[in-house]
Amino acid sequence: MKRKKKGIDFKQERTRIYDDQNPDVYREKKKYKEPTVCSECGAVFRKGRWSWDTSVEDAQTAVCPACRRISDKYPAGILEISGSFSEDHKDEILKLIRNKAKAEKNEHPLERIMDIEHQDGKKVISTTGFHLARRLGDALKDAYQGELDISYDAENFIRVYWNR
Ligand SMILES: [Zn+2]
Repeated sequence: MKRKKKGIDFKQERTRIYDDQNPDVYREKKKYKEPTVCSECGAVFRKGRWSWDTSVEDAQTAVCPACRRISDKYPAGILEISGSFSEDHKDEILKLIRNKAKAEKNEHPLERIMDIEHQDGKKVISTTGFHLARRLGDALKDAYQGELDISYDAENFIRVYWNR
């Protein structure tokens, strides 16, 4: 039997952290003092939202929800890509994913790719934002058709499957 490639089991990982940590720390609507700047990525919280605004002065520092998810390995979404077409066009598909993710991150600092893993012919992309996983799935469907499936596993967690 082929040995499974070592990787992070996000579901297990999430369950473990979910048990011993308050998931509220990841909430995007959490109240921060304004302005707050993230000590990890420099995103700024002001007027109730996160942006890349660099013009703030006298900001206090905190870690934004996206950076917190990255350090805790606690994604908000997972996109699984499978199928022989996606394997044959791997480079092109990953390029589309990265471009789309870059554009999303510019607009929405909390929507980022956490990790891209290759597992048994599948590509597993974890995201810090709930919306990004879905938007990446939609972008694949728009560009290449194929089958898109979306499931909501738990509160504020999305799992998107694209197969072609
Ligand atoms: Zn941050």
